[in-house]
Amino acid sequence: MLLESNLLQAQNATEIDCLGYAVAHKDDTFKPFRFKRHALGDTDILIEILFVGICHSDIHSVRSEWKEGIYPMVPGHEIAGRVVAVGHNVSKFKIGDNAGVGCMVNSCGVCRACKQSQEQFCENGKVVFTYDCLDCFHQNNPTYGGYSNSIVVNERFAVNVPIDAPLEKVAPLLCAGITTYSPLKFSNVKKGDNIAVAGFGGLGVMALKYALQMGAQVSIFARNEIKKDEALRLGAKAFYTNTKNVESQFDFIISTIPTNYNVNAYIELLKFGGELAIVGLPPVENAIKVDVTQLIFQGGKKVYGSLIGGMKETQKMLDFSLQHKIYPEIEIISIKDIDKAYNNLTNGKARFRYVIDMSTLQC
Ligand code: NDP
Ligand code: ZN
Repeated sequence: MLLESNLLQAQNATEIDCLGYAVAHKDDTFKPFRFKRHALGDTDILIEILFVGICHSDIHSVRSEWKEGIYPMVPGHEIAGRVVAVGHNVSKFKIGDNAGVGCMVNSCGVCRACKQSQEQFCENGKVVFTYDCLDCFHQNNPTYGGYSNSIVVNERFAVNVPIDAPLEKVAPLLCAGITTYSPLKFSNVKKGDNIAVAGFGGLGVMALKYALQMGAQVSIFARNEIKKDEALRLGAKAFYTNTKNVESQFDFIISTIPTNYNVNAYIELLKFGGELAIVGLPPVENAIKVDVTQLIFQGGKKVYGSLIGGMKETQKMLDFSLQHKIYPEIEIISIKDIDKAYNNLTNGKARFRYVIDMSTLQC
């Protein structure tokens, strides 16, 4: 339970003491870390974190694979918990509600992108990511993520979660869910479409489940057969371990691959007019290169990148997931096992999503 003193502090508008797990540098292991969050503002809510998913982005960030990270770093952007305090002008939540937080905690709110609820693309450059980011609304202090006992967030960046929802399964929806749901919707995947999912981990399994619900036939591309039976059991039509000799031509492919790979091989598998959505973001040293010549000589195919999803769509995704009981495949772990989980995720030993049970965080 969140310490009562935290609650009191929140209501007295002072900084909030938190306990989390952090790394001090990119090669570090996780250790307990005490830190402060900004005070509860008038439109903020304070959430006691109950479950947090481990996304592969956490690993990229911790290891400075995209950019030099901000340390100490407390990752975690798949957050589900309970509202324990609300600011004076909060209208969406009351104490005792469930809430979810994903990859963002604030943005300018007034630019065209924010007005269209595409806050992740805030045109004033003021999107504040949940961790590994400097918070321009709070003296440029670093943000800290969900591997911690509580988080303060502007209510616009929290989604409403029904009180009876399984929070351990809701947590990964806040990133893995929205990141796959959003491009499937953007590309209008529908009944009868022939689609493929490249990379069958935390995001890949969500893409499979959403696409099936939308009526598509789904093939999976992985790098070995370990999860073949699981994919077929979950409803995949076919399972491939490489792109050669594949006869199918796809209306849509989503790539969730986090490592170096040949993206052009997937473009080759699209039908004329087919669309490839890229969400997997390998380390910069393994940057993916699209072959423009191939793109021209196989014209008519569309390739785009996609970044999570806006807040309105995140709430829609959550409602859709709960309505159709579409949940991630999870393994619940203790916070002491984060390092082991990271190793498994990078060594091909993980099944799908690890979710940290935050009751294992000792005060
Ligand atoms: P996971 O580690 O859970 O899953 C990745 C999967 O890809 C694993 O199953 C892995 O297989 C598989 N894989 C790795 N290399 C290949 C390959 N060459 N061919 C086919 N499959 C491969 O990661 P997540 O699902 O959590 O994240 C995936 C990526 O998406 C990451 O780069 C992450 O940063 C990014 N991401 C992007 C977001 C966005 O908004 N664009 C949001 C969230 C995540 P194996 O089990 O063998 O390792
Ligand atoms: Zn993520």
